[in-house]
Amino acid sequence: EEKLLKEKAKEFAYTKSGKRIEVVANIGSPKDVDNALVMGAEGVGLYRTEFLFLDRDTPPTEEEQFEAYKIVAERFKPHPVIIRTLDIGGDKQIPYLNFEHELNPFLGVRAIRLCLKEIELFKTQLRAILRASVYGNILIMYPMIAIKDEIIEVNKILSEVKEELRGKNIPFDENIKVGIMVEIPSAALNAEELVDYVDFFSIGTNDLTQYTFASDRTNENLSYLYRPLDKPILKLIKLTVDASHTKGKWTGVCGELAGDPQAIPILVNLGVDELSMSPSKIPEAKKIIRSM
Ligand code: PEP
Ligand code: MG
Repeated sequence: EEKLLKEKAKEFAYTKSGKRIEVVANIGSPKDVDNALVMGAEGVGLYRTEFLFLDRDTPPTEEEQFEAYKIVAERFKPHPVIIRTLDIGGDKQIPYLNFEHELNPFLGVRAIRLCLKEIELFKTQLRAILRASVYGNILIMYPMIAIKDEIIEVNKILSEVKEELRGKNIPFDENIKVGIMVEIPSAALNAEELVDYVDFFSIGTNDLTQYTFASDRTNENLSYLYRPLDKPILKLIKLTVDASHTKGKWTGVCGELAGDPQAIPILVNLGVDELSMSPSKIPEAKKIIRSM
């Protein structure tokens, strides 16, 4: 039975009404690729790049990042690999960046907010991603976007990096797609405006739940407020999906909810186009999709 499930996991998953749901993997390093492929991942929906930056005294070089992104892109080619730019701050700190002490780190200078302050660090990562983009099908995703101006700002930085590469005749995918994580309620509530600045949305239900219920996702005393399947979250997911579809774009889910057997039918019925999850969850997820 287990073996059959894995065999079937190699094929795409369609609902009974014929809608394909892309089932892709969350990974943290090139080491995760083998297992993701074995489990039937049709690409990567969330490559958490922060692991490259943790547990060291200096930031990874452009070359080191380029190698890591290139390997993953090559192994999944022609399938998509969504590389999420650095998401640190909050509970993840790194010694070589001077964080100011914050009373509320999860509400502080985290992820894209940090990258907009550490422009050189950010540009180095974007350069590495762009250079790797000729080796496969890479998409870029920005974490923790709260407002449209942040997307405008990061897209401006991305254009500068592209221009710089063109000037040096370094090749990259000129049509590289750019999306955002929808994991802050303001982004979901305003998805109809944000959609014009992106190619896709991916909903981070872990943080979306934390920020919607104002409840630290790491605080065990508040686990009763971790309710990613409650109405408030489902409403935010629906707003996001509908906004993307109105403009002919797509929405995925890459929080833990995407791999939850109980949640999958609900997400698919809300119109979600792609589910990104821990590789081990993929075979069962595809089975559920096919039964719908
Ligand atoms: C999320 O917030 O749902 C998510 C996928 O990102 P992370 O868990 O890395 O914050
Ligand atoms: Mg998140």
